[in-house]
Amino acid sequence: MGLSLSSCGLAQAPDSIGRHGVSSDRTSSDRTSSDSTQAAAPCPSTALDSSICASHPGALKGITILLDAGHGGEQLGAHFDSVQEKHVNLAVAGKLKTRLEAMGATVYMTRVRDDDISLSARVKESIRLKPDIFVSVHSNANFKHNIDGIETYYYSSRSRELASTLLSSVAGGLKEKANWVEQERLFVVHHNVVPSVLVEIGYLSNLRTRALLITDDYQERAAEAIAVGIFNYFSRDNAARGCNLSRAQIAGIESAMKKAEAQRNRHFRPQHKKIRRH
Ligand SMILES: [Zn+2]
Repeated sequence: MGLSLSSCGLAQAPDSIGRHGVSSDRTSSDRTSSDSTQAAAPCPSTALDSSICASHPGALKGITILLDAGHGGEQLGAHFDSVQEKHVNLAVAGKLKTRLEAMGATVYMTRVRDDDISLSARVKESIRLKPDIFVSVHSNANFKHNIDGIETYYYSSRSRELASTLLSSVAGGLKEKANWVEQERLFVVHHNVVPSVLVEIGYLSNLRTRALLITDDYQERAAEAIAVGIFNYFSRDNAARGCNLSRAQIAGIESAMKKAEAQRNRHFRPQHKKIRRH
């Protein structure tokens, strides 16, 4: 199917529901940011001396990043035993924020608590803030419990380089298998207009990686690996950044999101089985 993309990565193709049963819907919404007028925050005390923020303080000064911790509130995301994806995602996003701020970036988060935030609200926040990039943090799941590894998803061609850079940095940093970089109509990257990537930091359905994902050590290393990828991305001279939109373009995006959410709600409407009484 042909997809035409404008310079801001606006999609003109008809919308559809992502194929990932666990989290084709990935979103958020409380906002916090660093104050760009303040000096860069120190590296987190838990970071090793070799951390990217220790070796490159201030390297991201002038860069604005919107981080999205996937799911939240009643949207648990993948969940196995007592482990819920939404908590893992938020923990990693918070640790990532600290590192990016230590490198001088201005960082916003779509949620900072266990809040239930719609996918469109997360994208609208991106349109409002006009960050240089948008990064959504998720943990994956598959009915085949032996599957593990790292994936990144993007939609606009402007986001491909960021997705590719994050795959290699996260898989390398976590010493996990790099599965794929894939163009996918996941809501928060599909409707976004700035370079946007959804990164899956490991499988909660895999017993080995589930045990790792809940540890502070793995979460710190995941945050470090994403921070390294973001640093590497902005080290390129021609890294795509941000996007300015006209009011008409914004109205078009919001209309497309409304339609997509309505379609999604229809798709996910609970099916109640009729109970026959004999
Ligand atoms: Zn998810």
